[in-house]
Amino acid sequence: MLSNIRIVLVQTYHPGNIGASARAMKTMGLSDLVLVNPRRFPDPEATRLAAGAEDLVESARVVGSLAEAVADCVQVIGASARLRSLPLPHFDEPDTMARELIEQAATDPVALVFGRERFGLTNDEIRLCSHQVSIPANPAYGILNLSQAVQVLAYEVFKAWRRRPDSGYRRALPTEQRQPTREHLGHFHDHLGRVMAASGFLTQPHAHTETQLQMLFARAQPSRKELSLLRGLLAALERQPPEA
Ligand code: SAH
Repeated sequence: MLSNIRIVLVQTYHPGNIGASARAMKTMGLSDLVLVNPRRFPDPEATRLAAGAEDLVESARVVGSLAEAVADCVQVIGASARLRSLPLPHFDEPDTMARELIEQAATDPVALVFGRERFGLTNDEIRLCSHQVSIPANPAYGILNLSQAVQVLAYEVFKAWRRRPDSGYRRALPTEQRQPTREHLGHFHDHLGRVMAASGFLTQPHAHTETQLQMLFARAQPSRKELSLLRGLLAALERQPPEA
């Protein structure tokens, strides 16, 4: 699904921004980078700023036009700090955009398109998009650095993907770290009650004390492992001969 999400950078001026964008992508599980007429590429500055994402820089494809970069995509979202007068559907909230993009990416390639550092995307390029998205920011200065805009939108896409039950991202916790069932807890409190009674701590049925202890353990939220540790302790106390 994430492999169907392409980041397209149009005529990037600073090669360092290409490297920093590659790094931003890799941290969010994206790998498909397409460069439309970059000013200087390949370039040592791109590789330097990629840090651990040189592989993305090396595998980036360079093409001659935005049309070529997005020809196979079913959804093309242009990132722009400013609203243009073009009547394209516009996402004001990147998380809404990301949820929709992830849906489409389940079956087909999609693209997020970023403009030039100096003047963004031209109207002709925006016309090649199906949607626009803006990152909400300070109204007095809302233009992010190119690679930081890539980071924010890539993060939103990653979050939207991670929330999906089919992402496999939330791996099941090992059994012992999981929460005990109500039945496990019930057995524990019965056991605790028996030990308190047998030890002489509770001289008469004292529901209030037991309720207080139940509330204490409800707040502590012991894991299954911790609960079985406590059961072990109770069992050991039960084996102690009563004091003479
Ligand atoms: N000076 C240009 C913006 C350049 S920033 C202009 O006025 O249009 C480079 C690219 O980063 C932009 O083309 C856009 O794709 C992205 N970007 C920067 N800030 C953004 C924001 N607030 N929302 C969406 N994209 C943004």
